[in-house]
Amino acid sequence: MSDASIKDVTIIGGGPTGLFAAFYAGLRGVSCRIVDALPQLGGQLMALYPEKYIFDVGGLPRILAKDLAKNMIEQGTQFGPEVVLEAEVQGLTLEDGHIRLATPRGDLLTRTVVITAGKGALNPRVLECPGWEELYQARSGVYTHVHQPEEFRGRRVLLVGGGDSAVDWALGLQGIAREVTLIHRRSEFRAHRASVQELRALEAQGKVNVLTPYEVRSLEGDTGCVSAATIFHNDTGEDRTLEVEAVVALLGFKPDLGPIGTWGLELEKNSIKVSQLMETNLPGVYAAGDVVHYPGKLELIATGYGEAAIAVNNAVHHINPKARVAPGHSTNLKIFKQDEGEDAGE
Ligand SMILES: Cc1cc2nc3c(=O)[nH]c(=O)nc-3n(C[C@H](O)[C@H](O)[C@H](O)COP(=O)(O)OP(=O)(O)OC[C@H]3O[C@@H](n4cnc5c(N)ncnc54)[C@H](O)[C@@H]3O)c2cc1C
Repeated sequence: MSDASIKDVTIIGGGPTGLFAAFYAGLRGVSCRIVDALPQLGGQLMALYPEKYIFDVGGLPRILAKDLAKNMIEQGTQFGPEVVLEAEVQGLTLEDGHIRLATPRGDLLTRTVVITAGKGALNPRVLECPGWEELYQARSGVYTHVHQPEEFRGRRVLLVGGGDSAVDWALGLQGIAREVTLIHRRSEFRAHRASVQELRALEAQGKVNVLTPYEVRSLEGDTGCVSAATIFHNDTGEDRTLEVEAVVALLGFKPDLGPIGTWGLELEKNSIKVSQLMETNLPGVYAAGDVVHYPGKLELIATGYGEAAIAVNNAVHHINPKARVAPGHSTNLKIFKQDEGEDAGE
């Protein structure tokens, strides 16, 4: 690998903190790469709650998570960082003069790292019942996401879950699937109130079946596809068997630092311990956002922005000790080519 492929800063995690870090790396004129395990940028905003409104990001009184992610991607990639998706970073090794990151897409070399891995690689929760694992591994009609609603056209679909995704997809697949049944282990749904009202209205019209409090006992397959689900009532234990042609478990994601825990980083409360400069215990390795811990830490998007700026500016100073840590104000930076006349309101 040539020196040209060694980036100044590699950001592990393309959520809001990582995207803001990429913006700052560009602003400081250093080469940058963002690596994420998921097939898309945006972190939790896109993976967990794209349709929810966020009210506590400065300057944006109310914005959908997916719109904030879109804006952040535009801002974070404007200086052309390399973006490597579907590449969970599995190893981090300090080598002579650089750091080596091992990913399923090959090794990546970098001078510094900013870890903005949030809650880890966001692995979807699955059903822990007989039949799930075999059918899931064989891709036989059981899913943890709805990628393409059309995939479910004309099928009897069982959705499992009580949050926004489960309720939203019960609404979204109605009219596409032949039959939609939603089961949840509690009687109350945790989803947006308006969505639950819509669900109940469709249930009253017989367009969606809603069964609570129910859980899946087992799944059965026939000729390479899931064909039946046995569910049980959580209070009475009574079983029911449903004929199904697809099962989607929409149970959220497991917070799990995964391989990050094996890189020799000092951890506290399942998070990376950092100094006020967002330094970890490994030289050249910084961290920011939900993945870090320090006294008084708040897990908020707004907090991640500040930490990303501190981490990247200190990484720049680490690479070149003559470079100042303070970036200056964006209003005055040549990189944005702002017309000074406009700035002065002339
Ligand atoms: C339902 C919900 C509502 C929320 N509402 C708000 C709100 O209103 N206001 C607010 O401020 N906050 C809110 N939050 C919290 C907010 O989303 C998080 O604080 C924020 O997403 C943290 O950003 P991050 O970039 O640090 O991490 P994340 O958004 O978690 O992004 C981390 C990224 O790192 C990737 N990754 C992890 N490990 C690896 C690895 N080894 N290799 C490669 N990639 C990896 C992941 O795939 C992920 O894309 C909410 C959270 C949830 C779940």
